[in-house]
Amino acid sequence: MTELPIRSVVTGGAGFIGSHLVEYLLHRGDEVVVIDDLSTGSMANLAGVVAHPRFGFVEASILDRAAVLGEIDGADRVFHLAAAVGVRRIIEQPLDSLRTNIHGSENVLDACLAADASLLLASTSEIYGKNTSDALHEDSDRILGSPLKSRWTYAAAKGIDESFAHAYHLEHGLRVGMVRLFNTVGPRQTGRYGMVVPNLVGQALRGDPITVFGDGLQTRCFSYVGDIVPALVAIAERPEAYGQVFNLGGAEEVSILELAERIVARLGSTSEIMLVPYEQAYGPGYEDMRRRVPDNTRSGSLVGFVPRTSIDAIIDAVAEDLRTRTESPVPV
Ligand code: UDP
Repeated sequence: MTELPIRSVVTGGAGFIGSHLVEYLLHRGDEVVVIDDLSTGSMANLAGVVAHPRFGFVEASILDRAAVLGEIDGADRVFHLAAAVGVRRIIEQPLDSLRTNIHGSENVLDACLAADASLLLASTSEIYGKNTSDALHEDSDRILGSPLKSRWTYAAAKGIDESFAHAYHLEHGLRVGMVRLFNTVGPRQTGRYGMVVPNLVGQALRGDPITVFGDGLQTRCFSYVGDIVPALVAIAERPEAYGQVFNLGGAEEVSILELAERIVARLGSTSEIMLVPYEQAYGPGYEDMRRRVPDNTRSGSLVGFVPRTSIDAIIDAVAEDLRTRTESPVPV
């Protein structure tokens, strides 16, 4: 008797991380249905899998409760990646971001409960806010600014998602694990919503000024999508992860100024690096995180997660992707 494939649903599967996850799941033999409203994702990200016999696509928002319940009915497991993401989008459309990230997630949680499907919820390092400790542990305190500032609204909404998921686990036994992603980067990420690596690499390839916001001394630990995706699936498959949250971030702390310098050097670009005040970039009252460093011990212990890809390798992969992208050709 042949075994039936695992039926996975990926919300946000047409997005940057989601589309890599879909490829990985298909490769492992799953049947995969994507729910995506194509707001920030695109079918181009799924070009390699649309014809796959175990792949299905439904264009719907996670705010469409009937669609979410209908598609998740019969699923074995769900990866919930759909969200309003990107600092720029969140600032420009705070209401839509709040609704999607809170009510949309609630629909996904209800659907998983009704279908008795397990769930992996993608959360974010934004949760920690302005906590600049040496290494942010899953139990570290959150330091958030005013909820009237859109950036903190996003952090608040994702925090509610985690609390919701945790409560569904405690009160209803929902098999849900959570991950906090720290600046995941790689091919298919677009700079359109603010993300720094594709934005700066694109500028470097075009010879445009490289826009470093603030004094450029803020730091991040970029992680490569190819390191993150297998860890998402491994965590989803461990019952010990239910009711728990796991950091997944990069190993190398780098300032944005240093990142810009490395991009210029690596790509042999003629671009100049330009410091742009935050106010000019994001409008008045914008607050940035000075530093954000993950402690990956918990995910390392559970599933052996180790971020292996170097920043230089990430720059190369993103540059290669931008050079070959057909929708927005980049002169080289
Ligand atoms: N950033 C920048 N230039 C850009 C886009 C972003 O200097 O063109 C900065 C941004 O202010 C932040 C860092 O790069 O300090 C990372 O930004 P991103 O939006 O990628 O992620 P997040 O702020 O969520 O860490």
